[in-house]
Amino acid sequence: LRVLGLESSCDDTAAAIVSSDGQIISETVRHQHQVHEAYGGIVPGLAADHHLRNMPLVVRETLEKAGMGMADVDAVAVTRGPGLPGSLAVGVAAGKTLAAVHLKPLVGVHHMEAHALMARMGAEDAVRFPYVCLLISGGHTLSLVVHGVNEHTLLGATRDDSVGEAFDKVARELAIPWIDAEDGGGAGPALEALARDGDPARFALPLPMEKSDSARSLDFSFSGLKTRIRRMREQGAFSAACRQDQADLAAAFQHAAAEHLQRKTRRALAHAAAEMGVAATCLVASGGVASNHAVRAALARLADRHGLPLVCPPPRLCTDNGVMVAWAGVERLRCGLLDPYTIDFIQRWPLDQLKRMGYQRRS
Ligand code: ATP
Ligand code: FE
Repeated sequence: LRVLGLESSCDDTAAAIVSSDGQIISETVRHQHQVHEAYGGIVPGLAADHHLRNMPLVVRETLEKAGMGMADVDAVAVTRGPGLPGSLAVGVAAGKTLAAVHLKPLVGVHHMEAHALMARMGAEDAVRFPYVCLLISGGHTLSLVVHGVNEHTLLGATRDDSVGEAFDKVARELAIPWIDAEDGGGAGPALEALARDGDPARFALPLPMEKSDSARSLDFSFSGLKTRIRRMREQGAFSAACRQDQADLAAAFQHAAAEHLQRKTRRALAHAAAEMGVAATCLVASGGVASNHAVRAALARLADRHGLPLVCPPPRLCTDNGVMVAWAGVERLRCGLLDPYTIDFIQRWPLDQLKRMGYQRRS
């Protein structure tokens, strides 16, 4: 089985062809960092314009690199939501048209399910259901139990900013320039690079949600850290023009964020085991922030204490990519979960509502 996957939910235009044995046959990603940096965040209209321009080229390049035509592809998978409407529309229109014209099965993919299933590609024996998954990206911060394909229970979610958003906003407070990297780039990786030269203890930040009532919650909160750093800047506690101040605050923020993620994930693991009777096979972390080394190290220590392996996809497959969409397509096809050529995008789409969506089951 060879599946072509298309992704355009946010600012990356991506496509990939993946086989059901977990091999990546080819993949292409076009980032838009340069387009949005000047605005300090993603501008939805610009993102849609660039998807519109890039999608045909990205699909063509992916087929050419694979030495394949549409006749060699067995199905088309496309991100259906959640995400920016203008961006999603481009991918969905491209995917369903390709599938309809070439009479291929179509699979509409939930972007966060794709992030959650990515860790299983080529490792289905190691990453068995059920597992506890932490999705830490630009738009989401979620912990969930992945019971199986299409079956997820939400454990905790952020009450305000996503952790990726917090990295991005703190990078802006600290006036850290974005970096361009092969496997992602943007504000988060720039902050991480700078934090390597920083002392996290110099401006130690209090951890979010440590008061008795919210400490028990499985939810996350990141806006307090960002606000505190903003206030420190306004009060002149540091200078964003001083590289050592930037690095020390970046390190302090990164440490607090990693520690908060780790503590809440510990609660999520305990809740899944004690309240839901879930015997998790492993802890999976995915999404752009899962490529952060401090976050990975904190989660690895936690997993180790629970005797669980921590599984993170390689960094370039943690951020948005076509491979995860193609792989989610493989997993869903195997379960007979196909979609009609008439599907539309879904802007807001809670992951635990997947099952209620009335997917067509065909064998
Ligand atoms: P979603 O999947 O929720 O729709 P998204 O796809 O935009 O959001 P991703 O591409 O998975 O998000 O991740 C992007 C986010 O991850 C950005 O906020 C970015 O700053 C952050 N990020 C990427 N690499 C790192 C890193 N090394 N350290 C910290 N944050 C990072
Ligand atoms: Fe994503």
